[in-house]
Amino acid sequence: MTDVERRPDRSPVPAGWTYAPAPESTEIVSLRERYGLFVGGEWVSPRSGEFFETISPRDEVPLAQVAQAGEQDVTAATEAAREAFGAWSTLPGSERAKYLFRIARILAERSREFAVLESLNGGKPIKEARDVDLPLAAAHFFYYAGWADKLEYAFPNRRPKPLGVAGQIIPWNFPLLMLSWKIAPALAAGNTVVLKPAETTPLTALLFCDVLRQAELPPGVVNIVTGDGRAGAALVEADVEKVAFTGSTEVGKAIQRRLAGSGKKLTLELGGKAANIVFDDAAVDQAVEGIVNGIYFNQGHVCCAGSRLFVQESIYEPIVDKLKRRMATLRVGDPLDKNTDVGAINSRMQLDKIEELVAAGRAEGAEIYQPPCRLPEKGYWFAPTVFTNVAQSYRIAQEEIFGPVLSVLTFRTPDEAVEKANNTPYGLSAGIWTEKGSRILWMAERLRAGVVWANTFNRFDPTSPFGGYKESGFGREGGLHGLEPYLAFDA
Ligand code: NDP
Repeated sequence: MTDVERRPDRSPVPAGWTYAPAPESTEIVSLRERYGLFVGGEWVSPRSGEFFETISPRDEVPLAQVAQAGEQDVTAATEAAREAFGAWSTLPGSERAKYLFRIARILAERSREFAVLESLNGGKPIKEARDVDLPLAAAHFFYYAGWADKLEYAFPNRRPKPLGVAGQIIPWNFPLLMLSWKIAPALAAGNTVVLKPAETTPLTALLFCDVLRQAELPPGVVNIVTGDGRAGAALVEADVEKVAFTGSTEVGKAIQRRLAGSGKKLTLELGGKAANIVFDDAAVDQAVEGIVNGIYFNQGHVCCAGSRLFVQESIYEPIVDKLKRRMATLRVGDPLDKNTDVGAINSRMQLDKIEELVAAGRAEGAEIYQPPCRLPEKGYWFAPTVFTNVAQSYRIAQEEIFGPVLSVLTFRTPDEAVEKANNTPYGLSAGIWTEKGSRILWMAERLRAGVVWANTFNRFDPTSPFGGYKESGFGREGGLHGLEPYLAFDA
């Protein structure tokens, strides 16, 4: 497995500067051969009798067998959650908070173990799992623990009450973090939960069950059912008061259609095609770092990735030149190596999708650049890629690629930047790079995006709400806003 090969004439680092391998040991993780479903605080065999294999995308090596939940299994899980609801919802908020604080502390204590497993099962670089996913996952439990006994103050005179059982479906790009985004506010508000992790990345959710036991969370308050889309569809149909979904716009729409008129509450956090907009007065080197972070972080498997770069025409050449030089320094390879910047693509299916859209970009006439890269032979890999000469109508400028692929477009005026940035069915996030505060405010007011970052990108905090407009979904996660979808109000 090797790194990017450097071209001495372009690379900003001294020629021949190589990194010794720095692999993280996997010894800290112990996996079972086979996992059942976590229902009512116990491991149970799936009534479906079906199991599937979960692999590591870095080398396609099988890691464990995981249960495929059928309809009956999902029903059993929702029944366990319903049974636990009475006692959990009437527990004083300060008592519920203690469990959440405990979970947060255990996650922090076991963070290395979780980070290694996240990287192993999902393909993300260990330094991102270690420095982003795990600290943020623990932070969400800490944050919502703080609200559990203050709901009356959070929503004054509205008499907040828990809804009941929440069915939660999460994707594969930030498995443990998405679990935390969903479970922490639901529990703080007094609900019980059935959660389905993504088919390709179930292992950290299954390890999390161990944390629940360690924290002595009452049985049935959190239930984990693994499986493919069929298990997700069964959970949507099941006896739950609320469905929270993060994933593709296509599946989100299907769920919304299914739930229309059912009375079940729904929040959807779907795809994105974020505009990252660089003005000619921006600090260029910082902007380039922000562009790289915006699209190559987590191999671009990020719903809010800055996948459309808009550069003001007057600085187009220096930005693209610096960007290409910076891309040549990205180290692509073993996700468990601490020096790796870009890890493995999550699955064969996702790699096929990226390859198809990149082929469409070439065919439509965009110009492609990839730094010289020797990719590992086994596993799923895609080199960091940038497209220039992109027209707004190209598929690579319209569709969510969900991979390390950036499309560069240009603009002349702020009005034109807004017009082009909003020219997408999505509206999840955006970035603005300029030294003028007034311009940031002017732009932020006009961009149809749930989150707008200024002179930074991909920043997350549990106190800050996150969510979309248009086909990026509705409802917010994080902050006080993230509690509201898990509560009913008298007034
Ligand atoms: P999906 O939307 O299919 O997956 C998200 C979750 O929903 C998974 O747990 C999935 O299970 C489950 N699911 C699948 N079908 C159904 C259904 N009919 N009813 C209920 N739940 C269901 O995303 P994919 O993993 O297929 O990725 C496809 C594309 O979606 C990506 O290329 C990317 O563009 C986008 N995406 C966006 C994400 C975001 O955060 N906005 C996250 C993930 C993907 P299972 O894993 O078993 O299929």
